[in-house]
Amino acid sequence: MKLAFYSLTSCEGCLTTLITKLGPDLEGLWNNFDIDYFKLVREPVGGSRIPKADIAFVEGAVVTNLDREQLLEIRKNSRFVVALGTCASSGNIAYTASRGVDLKGRRLRDVEISEAEPISSVITVDYELSGCPVSAEEFTDALLRLVNSIEPVQPDFSVCYECKMKGNDCLLEKRRVCLGPLAMGGCGAACTSVGAPCFSCRGPAAEADLDAYLKTIEKKGVDRQRALMLLHMFTGKKVKEVLKNEQ
Ligand code: SF4
Ligand code: SF4
Ligand code: SF4
Repeated sequence: MKLAFYSLTSCEGCLTTLITKLGPDLEGLWNNFDIDYFKLVREPVGGSRIPKADIAFVEGAVVTNLDREQLLEIRKNSRFVVALGTCASSGNIAYTASRGVDLKGRRLRDVEISEAEPISSVITVDYELSGCPVSAEEFTDALLRLVNSIEPVQPDFSVCYECKMKGNDCLLEKRRVCLGPLAMGGCGAACTSVGAPCFSCRGPAAEADLDAYLKTIEKKGVDRQRALMLLHMFTGKKVKEVLKNEQ
């Protein structure tokens, strides 16, 4: 089975995470699959810029015309396309940074710059893996499922659920902004378990209820403006799913 790993406009932290966090599984990945392209590690084999692949993993957001062209070619040459991390799945902070900026006709040398978009704005994406960076465990799970023709699944519970299961003290009680009730779980409440608030780096939870969240934080005296600002900052284009009819 052929795999390929691409990087659009990004910090390349998702691919770096796979390299650093897969441990012994990284060896298994190289030994058990044909990997024709892995940005950072292996240049395209056989001279093709975008080789044919059974599964293409794509990190990063679409910001330039080069990203767009590369992505269209990836789609054409790959059986499955998987968005790797929050930049690819929602646009992440690049979407927030460029939203509302008039970039019409903006160029840097020969490169056209436009508002950052998730890859699903340009091509059909088969699966999305969220996380900034992506979780190596979730990557392995998704890969094994795809290899066995089983559909990968994203967690349907929130970070708050995982945090409560761990018995952590709730940061909202200390009037600290925490987006755990709105954020997709699966990270094991990584931040709140060490006393840092959740900023929803994995995008919105399926059950995200902004109304209920805002009522709760109002009762607890938590800063509503800061909560909404953080929500906009890291949720990328998927913030629209959470905001629905809210402002
Ligand atoms: S999701 Fe995070 S770690 Fe991955 S490429 Fe984007 S900014 Fe970097
Ligand atoms: S600290 Fe955050 S994630 Fe944990 S219970 Fe409180 S609101 Fe939920
Ligand atoms: S706790 Fe929140 S910010 Fe931290 S890793 Fe999990 S989803 Fe991301």
